[in-house]
Amino acid sequence: MGLAEKLAKERRARLAAERLLHLKEAELSAANRKLGRRAMALSRQIDETQAEVENVRGENEKVKSDLTVANAKIEVAERRLWHSIQTIQDGFAFFDGDSRLISANAAYLSVFQGLDEVRSGISYHRILEILTDEGIVDIGQEVAADWQARMQRRWARPNPEPMVIQLWNGQFVRVIDQRGHGGDVVSLELNITSSVRNEAELRTAREKAEAANRAKSVFLANMSHEIRTPMNGIVGMSELLTETPLNEEQKLYVNTIRNSGEALLSIINDVLDYSKIEAEKLALYQEPFDLERCILEVSMLLQPSVREKGLTLLVDYDLFLPTLFVGDLGRVRQILTNLIGNAVKFTSEGHVLIRVTGVPNFETQSCDVHVAVEDTGIGIEPGKIPHIFGEFNQVEDERNRQYEGTGLGLAITKRLIVMMGGTVWVESEPGKGSCFGFRLTLPTDEGLQPTLPRLNDHLSHVMLVEDLEANRAILTKQLGRLGLRVTVCESGAEVFSTLDDSVDLVLCDQELPDMDGLELAKALRSHGWAELPIVVMSANPGVLTADSAHHLIQSVLQKPIPRSELVAGLMALSSFDRDFREEQKWEENTTLPKKSASVQRRMRVLAADDNKTNQLILKKMTKDMDIDIRFVANGLEVIEAYDDFAPDLIFMDISMPKMDGKQATEEIRRREIATGRRVPIVALTAHAMAGDDHGILASGLDHYLTKPLHKKRIVQIIVDKCPKDARPVLVGNRRRKWD
Ligand code: ADP
Repeated sequence: MGLAEKLAKERRARLAAERLLHLKEAELSAANRKLGRRAMALSRQIDETQAEVENVRGENEKVKSDLTVANAKIEVAERRLWHSIQTIQDGFAFFDGDSRLISANAAYLSVFQGLDEVRSGISYHRILEILTDEGIVDIGQEVAADWQARMQRRWARPNPEPMVIQLWNGQFVRVIDQRGHGGDVVSLELNITSSVRNEAELRTAREKAEAANRAKSVFLANMSHEIRTPMNGIVGMSELLTETPLNEEQKLYVNTIRNSGEALLSIINDVLDYSKIEAEKLALYQEPFDLERCILEVSMLLQPSVREKGLTLLVDYDLFLPTLFVGDLGRVRQILTNLIGNAVKFTSEGHVLIRVTGVPNFETQSCDVHVAVEDTGIGIEPGKIPHIFGEFNQVEDERNRQYEGTGLGLAITKRLIVMMGGTVWVESEPGKGSCFGFRLTLPTDEGLQPTLPRLNDHLSHVMLVEDLEANRAILTKQLGRLGLRVTVCESGAEVFSTLDDSVDLVLCDQELPDMDGLELAKALRSHGWAELPIVVMSANPGVLTADSAHHLIQSVLQKPIPRSELVAGLMALSSFDRDFREEQKWEENTTLPKKSASVQRRMRVLAADDNKTNQLILKKMTKDMDIDIRFVANGLEVIEAYDDFAPDLIFMDISMPKMDGKQATEEIRRREIATGRRVPIVALTAHAMAGDDHGILASGLDHYLTKPLHKKRIVQIIVDKCPKDARPVLVGNRRRKWD
């Protein structure tokens, strides 16, 4: 190869090398540039990271300082809390979930003084052991192991009930343990020694006061009882004295003695009753009784004052309400006597209305009985109402002070009603009247409930003649409920303008504004209504029977009219026989025994009483009667006389020496099992308490009369019990008196 060629080759090679060099240089500078950029990005990142680090460091510093402050605060709070816990007088301790003591205050630990073992970490179980082993706790007769087991069982419960323990030094501690989350227990030991002592002192004081109160009541009850016996003598004798020839002045004195005696006896009865309730000696008895009859009996007893004051006493006993209940008859009668008696006492004109309604409950065989006693009397100021059921509370104002009373009646009434599970209330408006109501749930005496007859077949249209609105309303309702059509007239004259052939019966009041019932009957008969049955209602039927015109009417219904009498009267009319009526009606109505031509012997009455005054009273009260009366002084003599005198009736005092009245009665009843006869025995008792009758009747006595004896009642009983084969007990003009 030539030189040129070699040179060209070298040149080409050099050129190629130079190109390569350029290329590499360009690549290198591109790489450098890239590197430069990366380096810049990195350094920026480093800067940012550094700033972040700074930031975090700052925050850390702040958290650290906050934490320090918080810790300091917690420490202070903990110190304060612990300080407080230490200062309280009651024991305080914490236990962990394994029942190990975490911490306890000084009061808690004080009972374990000198026992180093009791500190944080000790188990509850061991604490219990120490308490008994060291005699810290007074466990009485209980065995230590039993006590510990009992406490341990209590501790294991989710919510241990608080309990009281007694320490060796007589102190009482109430232990309250509260279980928290995770099984921790906070235990609090409250020292209740002073309140336990106060309670015990209070209890003793109350027991003493109650015992003193009971002693006072027993004393009062005994005193009242003792006062009654001589008082009975005074009242009985003065009643007899009124029947002897006396001049006007003497009559006044005797009546004053009798009235004062009666008033004193009623006060004593109230005090006796109230003391018995207070002394917790009052028990309620359960016996079947007729509520309607009871209300009517109470009404009858109050009739004299009702008549004297010119009031009307009405009874509205719901026709569909049962009348036979089980309860304490004596007490129910006492409640009614008080409420109806008050209504009569505090009413000078208008009426007293006793309304009885109720809701029978067939499932429980009982009845919610609701009795309301309404009057149109003086009423009670609203401000005085809350006090009248309290003891010795009477409305103190001029109008009221003219009335006598102990102020105990309503207090006794309320106590009795509450004892029977009932409620009592009053609504009143001064000058308008009052309404006292009570509600009792009484079991019904099943089987004996009266069923209402269907009268429609015989009787359908009644003309009711009554001027008194309240009575009109009651009778219209009752007759309506019996299915009768009722036309109402307010006067005799109205009857004549209204009467037509559809009327089957005229039921009229004796006291009408324009004429009386008998006059109306006369007028109707003389106007051609000869066959129309007429029944007259009167509060005083005796007056009507004495009237020669009474044969013009079919019958007399005594007001207030018992539902049974109303129904019976209507039933009787439906099978009415005129001829029979004219001859028999008044014979039937009288309480006298039927006359018999063959009667020879006198009725034999045996009277047992150890008190000579009472014997004398009874003797005098019966002196005008045609009876053979024998007196004995104790139960043994009663039995003897029962055998040889064969009495038709026995009056039996209850408390007598040797053998009392109840025992004598039981003996007689035993003897009668063989003979099959039963002599009526009437208890004469000085026990004023209505509840006492239960024991009396339970021993076989048929009736009881409380002293003082009243001639009228004694005579009525003898008349009622006179046997058919004995002579009439009332003779001559005496007989008229009891017709
Ligand atoms: P008291 O023996 O005085 O009648 P009560 O406890 O029965 O005692 O009655 C207390 C008082 O309540 C009576 O004194 C009277 O002021 C008042 N009071 C009771 N019932 C009536 C009534 N129906 N109308 C007006 N006031 C009455």
